[in-house]
Amino acid sequence: MLCGMRRHSTTFFACLLMLLAPARPAGAAEPPDIDACKARWQDEAAGRQLSARVREQLIPGLSLLPRVLELDRRQPEFTTSFGSYLEKRLSDTRIESGRQKLLEHAALLESLTRQYGVPGRYLVAFWGLETNFGGYLGNTATLDALATLACDERRSRYFTAELFEALALSETQSLDPATMRGSWAGAMGQTQFMPSNYRRYGRDGDGDGKVDLWNSVPDALHSAAHFLAELGWEPGLRWGREVLLPRDFDYAQTGLDQQRPLSEWSARGLRLANGGRLPAEQTIEAAVIVPAGHRGPAFIVYRNFRIIMRWNNSESYALSVGLLADRLIGAAPLHRPPPDDEARLSLDEIRRLQARLNALGYDTGTPDGIPGPATRKAIRAFQRDRGLIADGYHGPELRAAVFAAQ
Ligand code: CA
Repeated sequence: MLCGMRRHSTTFFACLLMLLAPARPAGAAEPPDIDACKARWQDEAAGRQLSARVREQLIPGLSLLPRVLELDRRQPEFTTSFGSYLEKRLSDTRIESGRQKLLEHAALLESLTRQYGVPGRYLVAFWGLETNFGGYLGNTATLDALATLACDERRSRYFTAELFEALALSETQSLDPATMRGSWAGAMGQTQFMPSNYRRYGRDGDGDGKVDLWNSVPDALHSAAHFLAELGWEPGLRWGREVLLPRDFDYAQTGLDQQRPLSEWSARGLRLANGGRLPAEQTIEAAVIVPAGHRGPAFIVYRNFRIIMRWNNSESYALSVGLLADRLIGAAPLHRPPPDDEARLSLDEIRRLQARLNALGYDTGTPDGIPGPATRKAIRAFQRDRGLIADGYHGPELRAAVFAAQ
């Protein structure tokens, strides 16, 4: 599932934004019985020995938010192309604001880099992508949003756990529930942490004894650095970079599942975007990805790229973090931008493509309308068998070939 309930995915909201599309009307499902849920949670709170305040005030005060259910149930109609995804996130305004933030918080960022090993440009990039540097924190009451999703049967387990994390957080950090506001899916503060991550990774950066991810930039950046370090960020290593592929490159070698030492990619003819040689490094494992197919840019990505994906499990998101971070310190725009005429398929079209590939013996998993890693892998195998450029991309040529295949 694209906007999966991974424990480390703090940015459920950002992930959903990837699928920009008009809403369909919500299904006519029965609204959840919030009173029954509250009674159940009160018992659970007693079992967990949460305070009387939680049991007698906070839980009884929770409200169902119909708008949250509506947002949660809406299905996007179209997928977003890589080019438009990137264009929206790496606007000139955002790059300029990010450069100012790097300067403004230089001392803090340097100390965080020393402590956690994560360069400041990445922290500022996350901050910019999550909330436009604190400019948009979301205004949905967090406890009510979580209660609504926890009481709804669809992902009750995950959101019940997050609701209890949020209740505990309001206790340990002495937070006023009225000020706990954020995305409709429960992400909070300048870096949009889910409550469990707030509790686990939140840090008091300004030394006032409290972790306040809404109002304290030092707290938010400290917490982001701590989170990335805990996820396994490798100091001194980049996320990856744009590369040039040789003319005869075999695209069947692309995809995150195909790791090779950097030296091997170099020997296979990959070059830096400026034409220079890749470092002949044998200890760095890397994969090559082509998010817009062979007509678009190619990237070589390292371990830290996967760490970014543990923050938000999306290749496009991770590329936008890495590329924005580089632009903040003066890197040039992409040498080879994504083509203007990238495929913009509806989810239904992709579902049909997936079902057809499955029927032909190329396993895409359950057709879900999302061209994720399994779908790309199946497309690569199909392309290879048919003598097409095996870039794993769902372009018009591929679709025509899949539907013509017997
Ligand atoms: Ca603080």
